[in-house]
Amino acid sequence: MKRLVILGGGTAGTMVANKLRAAYSQDELALTVVDLDDQHHYQPGYLFLPFGTYRAQQLVRSRHSFLPDGVDLVLCEIDRVDAPFKTVYLTDGRALSYDYLIIATGVQPRPEATTGGDGPEVGVSVHSFYTLEAAKELAEALRRFRGGKLVVHITDMPIKCPVAPLEFTFLAEEWLTKHGIREKTELTYVTPLDGAFTKPVASRELGTMLSEKGIHLETDFTIERIDNDAKEIVSYDDRRVPFDLLVTIPLNLGPDYIARSGLGDDLNLVPCDQQTMQALAHPDIFVLGDGGTLLTSKAGSVAHFAVDIFMENFPAHLAGAELTHGFDGHANCFIESGYGKGLLLGFNYDTQPYTGTFPAPLIGPLALLKESRLNHLAKLAFRWVYWNMLLRGRPLPFTNKMSLVGKRVEDAGSASAQPMPAKASAPAPLAASPKPAPVRKPAPARPSIGKPAAKPSPTPRPSAGPATPTPSGPLPPDPRKGVDSTTDPSPVLPGPIKPTF
Ligand SMILES: Cc1cc2nc3c(=O)[nH]c(=O)nc-3n(C[C@H](O)[C@H](O)[C@H](O)COP(=O)(O)OP(=O)(O)OC[C@H]3O[C@@H](n4cnc5c(N)ncnc54)[C@H](O)[C@@H]3O)c2cc1C
Repeated sequence: MKRLVILGGGTAGTMVANKLRAAYSQDELALTVVDLDDQHHYQPGYLFLPFGTYRAQQLVRSRHSFLPDGVDLVLCEIDRVDAPFKTVYLTDGRALSYDYLIIATGVQPRPEATTGGDGPEVGVSVHSFYTLEAAKELAEALRRFRGGKLVVHITDMPIKCPVAPLEFTFLAEEWLTKHGIREKTELTYVTPLDGAFTKPVASRELGTMLSEKGIHLETDFTIERIDNDAKEIVSYDDRRVPFDLLVTIPLNLGPDYIARSGLGDDLNLVPCDQQTMQALAHPDIFVLGDGGTLLTSKAGSVAHFAVDIFMENFPAHLAGAELTHGFDGHANCFIESGYGKGLLLGFNYDTQPYTGTFPAPLIGPLALLKESRLNHLAKLAFRWVYWNMLLRGRPLPFTNKMSLVGKRVEDAGSASAQPMPAKASAPAPLAASPKPAPVRKPAPARPSIGKPAAKPSPTPRPSAGPATPTPSGPLPPDPRKGVDSTTDPSPVLPGPIKPTF
């Protein structure tokens, strides 16, 4: 019998535990999941909480209820991994030996990593919505807000769900209008990117939406500090954006045990193969979910597709054979745009988000990068799908490989000149930023027991979103109707999805 330990029982860890338990008997594979507590959060719901769409109770469920029989759930903080000796140490002194390890501890917002991010205005005029507690506090702050300067700000990329700050801005615009204070409010979106989003077509479309809604866009803003006294955010090139209410997305970092274990890069992300999610320095470690260096979005949809690829490869890994299935970086992200509408982004390592349609089985094609009521309903339905299908590892009628069917592929050159990486398997590093990096207070390092893992060679920093397309030139739109899948959804779904939300 082999022992497989899964670190983190969030989105990716829960999904893969369910799939592994269904595929292997307990005699073949002993499965252990480690997490801090028994509370599983539906993180996409944090976005809606400040606007009263969801209550906190709707976003939290018991973690163990999503794990199948035959999976041990250990509730404790992970202290470190001794990769050469294949042992995980917990903070209560326990040690777990493994044959295979899955790192699925994701990334967490770290406000204290920015100067002033833990200052006296935090919880008063400085807020966030990237944790449940922060989102609840922001709900209160919005209720007290009577107009003024509302600033939505991203500290640095990558962050999980890179479209969430834009969604918050659109929803805030609607909320201010409905509460009669839009005229009294200056709404500003501040980003370290050079446009509203990373890639030319999405940046153009989303930038147009911001300007149509009268939202000021401040780009290339590399924050140096939050000035709590002056109530301003200050950039390294000394631009100052004043605020009455700041909604900031802090730096997202992997947990500190990654650094203590010598497994991560400067953001505590574990360098991994873009196609197999295998840790570059340790072949028996796989990284699923947000915690690795995949050059695609950090999102539940990516975790879902990547877990499928892992499951396809794992039998070969067990047999000591070569891994033959490769992840293409496929991501789908719904963007709430307010007033009961939403957009959809679909992309992968090679293909940036385009306009057109996404052929979704059962509910019909969804508009890409274009507002529609159906996209909004699909976003709300995702909560039901998450709790009832995704986490439990049930098959969904979407293939992990992205299809170009329905996409209106544009010549990247016509939208904006961007460097183009050659191939997903060997992504080109992002161009080094001429701006200074934000100051990050170093995480406290603890001495590790056992031999430290060899530091892998540096890998390219992941981007906020998809990589730029391959230089193969524009493709004609594919006129075919149908599903983005060779899978007929009917045999895999127990019945039609009837979400209640
Ligand atoms: C505001 C917001 C909106 C979002 N919206 C969307 C969306 O619309 N669509 C979408 O697809 N995705 C969305 N996401 C992103 C999505 O939630 C994440 O990509 C996904 O949860 C990543 O899964 P994961 O398993 O890697 O990490 P997580 O689900 O975060 O799980 C990590 C787990 O590791 C545990 N852990 C961490 N450190 C330790 C430690 N030291 N010891 C023990 N346990 C530890 C944590 O407790 C946690 O349970 C959103 C995220 C946020 C914050």
